[in-house]
Amino acid sequence: MNWAEISVVLTTVLYMVSSVLFIRGIKLLGKADTARRGNLMSSVGMLIAVVTVLLEKKVTDTLTAAPMKNAYIWAIAAIALGSIIGSVWAKKVEMTGMPQLVALFNGFGGLSSLLVALTQYMTDPDVNVFSSVALGLTIAIGAIAFTGSIVAWGKLSGKAFKKNVSIPGKNGVNALLAIVGLAGVGMYALQIAGILDKQMGMIGIITVTAAFLILGFTMVICIGGGDMPVIISLLNAFSGLAAAFAGLSISNSVLVVSGCLVGTSGLILTLIMCKAMNRTLYNLLFAAAVAKKKGAAGEAKEPRSMSVEDAYLILEAASSVVFIPGYGMAVAQAQHAVKELCDKLEENGAEVSFAIHPVAGRMPGHMNVLLAEANVPYEQLKTADEMNPQMPNTDVAIVIGANDVVNPSAVNDETSPLYGMPIINAYEARTVFVLKRGKGAGFSGVENPLFTNDNTVMIYGDAKNTVSALVSEFDDA
Ligand code: NDP
Repeated sequence: MNWAEISVVLTTVLYMVSSVLFIRGIKLLGKADTARRGNLMSSVGMLIAVVTVLLEKKVTDTLTAAPMKNAYIWAIAAIALGSIIGSVWAKKVEMTGMPQLVALFNGFGGLSSLLVALTQYMTDPDVNVFSSVALGLTIAIGAIAFTGSIVAWGKLSGKAFKKNVSIPGKNGVNALLAIVGLAGVGMYALQIAGILDKQMGMIGIITVTAAFLILGFTMVICIGGGDMPVIISLLNAFSGLAAAFAGLSISNSVLVVSGCLVGTSGLILTLIMCKAMNRTLYNLLFAAAVAKKKGAAGEAKEPRSMSVEDAYLILEAASSVVFIPGYGMAVAQAQHAVKELCDKLEENGAEVSFAIHPVAGRMPGHMNVLLAEANVPYEQLKTADEMNPQMPNTDVAIVIGANDVVNPSAVNDETSPLYGMPIINAYEARTVFVLKRGKGAGFSGVENPLFTNDNTVMIYGDAKNTVSALVSEFDDA
């Protein structure tokens, strides 16, 4: 065996090792106690993959060839810069900022695949028809993942695209963009097959890039806040698929494997989210853009509010209490105070449960993670299906910084953008305490009629302060 052959075998083995580490890593991510190990394992897999790519013969030949004499330095500098920015950012990000960070990661993943495909187009003359189609699809999916994720980031962070937009004839516009973009892929493939000339191939590449960049934007801008969890999972799947197609177009097996892992896990999560939100993907992507908001008479009714002292008297007499946490609990970091209040209520003889909505907070499992951190026993965490039948027999439902996930419009207002989404039926409890800072709407921007129900009282203020004050009332009693 000469050195070139040894290098090919070594590269293949190292790619296999990193693929196995990815697969094992993703498996370990499935459980809280092994998740850190899974993350580390996948990171080691990625490190091996990156180093192997840099040492692969094809790559060393390209990087050392003129006119790219300093290309290795550029590549290593880019990796170092990206690693520093990524680690500082990930360390600094608040738990509540994770979803927008994930959205950006999806977007950058899509953009990387898009750039890989464009570089391949500009530098590799030996493309066959199969890899030309893979290259075109990489551009298409990478572009949609990129602009779609930027819009998602804006919506999630509240920094841009906050208002739900309605594009007249949205489905027609999106279908046209998709057809034009795919025609661009076809033009490039026909150029590679020798049927069209080079200029037409280039027009094809420009067309698919532009059409799908716009499509990512038009597709996500119309999606309402409440449906963002599904769209983030879908964009995650797109970024994985783009990487898989990029792997096919540049014949890199580890990119195909990692792309498929991200793509399929993203698709599975999308389907789980769709089920949790009682949505279909078709409904989400193609249904009429923005439903009318409620404008019925009676909207001007003011919510009633109550002091902590009075709320304590009601809680003290309650024999069943259900906590319904939401994003505000994460913002306030109230989970430890909530656990203390839970203990006080139990000492007082009340039966206490936690009703956890699958999209409460800003990421799947957000509430479970926070409550586990505060040592709330797993058995106390119930799903909407488990809790809702018991809600009419519950003395007090304490809504802690939740809003959309307890919005009754999802059940009884067909014009609401939330209509059809399963909720925790807090409104059926005998008394509902809503702990939040003001009267504002939740993430979806939809007003919540729960606040003005006769059995609801608002306890205004930061959730942690309010819950701690309730604990103090028990202590002082
Ligand atoms: P919402 O975002 O609907 O409502 C949170 C409420 O918390 C706000 O109304 C806010 O009211 C209140 N709040 C904020 N800070 C505090 C604080 N310090 N103390 C007390 N209250 C506070 O949250 P939900 O959990 O009910 O719903 C989640 C929403 O996020 C859904 O629309 C879901 O679709 C979406 N989403 C979920 C994702 C997921 O994967 N779980 C991902 C992306 C989006 P105020 O300002 O008056 O205090």
